[in-house]
Amino acid sequence: MKQSFYDLNYSDLETVINQNNLNGSAASVLFNWHYKKKEQTQCLDNIAKLAVDFFQNNFDFSLPEIDTVYESNKDRTVKFLFKLKDAHKVETVLIPFNNKYSICLSSQVGCAMNCSFCFTGKQGLTRNLTTSEIVGQFLQAWRWLATHRPGEERILNIVFMGQGEPLHNFDAVKKACEIFLSKHGTSVGIQKITISTAGYIPGLKRWSEEIPGVNLALSLHSPFEAKRNELIPINKKYPLDEVLTYIDQIPLNKKQFVTYEYILIKDFNDAPGDAKKLGSLLAGKSAYINLIPFNAFPGSHYQSPDLDKIEQFKAVLDTFKIPTLIRGTKGDDVLAACGQLNSKN
Ligand code: SAH
Repeated sequence: MKQSFYDLNYSDLETVINQNNLNGSAASVLFNWHYKKKEQTQCLDNIAKLAVDFFQNNFDFSLPEIDTVYESNKDRTVKFLFKLKDAHKVETVLIPFNNKYSICLSSQVGCAMNCSFCFTGKQGLTRNLTTSEIVGQFLQAWRWLATHRPGEERILNIVFMGQGEPLHNFDAVKKACEIFLSKHGTSVGIQKITISTAGYIPGLKRWSEEIPGVNLALSLHSPFEAKRNELIPINKKYPLDEVLTYIDQIPLNKKQFVTYEYILIKDFNDAPGDAKKLGSLLAGKSAYINLIPFNAFPGSHYQSPDLDKIEQFKAVLDTFKIPTLIRGTKGDDVLAACGQLNSKN
């Protein structure tokens, strides 16, 4: 089977070009064509016939196929179900804000973390996605916008908050980030990419050493070890205090914050005492808190608290002077909100 072109970062592409004695300018020409212009056709502009033939014969330019598109009736959220070459499926979500979009990418088919509140977690891990399958979600979503909502094909933020634990598939996710960041291609700003983790310390180490400018979000969900163990089983192996200590010693850029995500579950982690403990854990850090009311999915037994309970929780955090956002539930009518993604449609 041919290697995917979309598995190569810029320096891999340069290596391939050098090793095959092709003209060095082909690397920027190809990145420009496939990532800046986002063309899927063969690049014939400004490139030698030899290089055209070489890439045609040796590389695969296909991308994950869009199987189904779900458009929200409530907001402009779009959820894509992608079909991969081996027929496995993953989902990707475009979340609108001011005529621009954030894209929520999947990094694995299923997930090994088995979090009790997460639809994806219930499926177990099937396999890691390749870099081309990650980058392909972005390119296909962009092209869908260009065709169906022309003029709106502006995807400003990339978040790894879809299916999977991105730090558990570090190599492929890192290379996808390098491709997104490349000045020769999509040229996404480093502060526009966020990786969300359940707290997988080996992956955190690699993130801090290898792609430190990429933003980090930690799924915290409870400041109490026993409750967090119940929600996020890997907390037993990598307890929250160790995760926070690790994150604290990572040097951040001046404007860089760590986002702490907190799912609010009715009568489980939504009491003022939970908020106080959370506030005292995070006070004084370069932290943002995202409060996410629990999103139900078929078979889930948790519930979301009422709005006034959510606001009370936020009010407690405000006393600790931590910037806190209550995240809306965009796309929940098409099961596109956090934790509602699955591979079985
Ligand atoms: N594995 C990574 C990224 C995927 S989940 C992580 O754990 O961070 C992205 C976010 O959605 C996480 O904060 C996750 O906890 C949250 N989430 C999962 N299921 C949810 C649900 N049912 N309702 C609300 N948020 C959920």
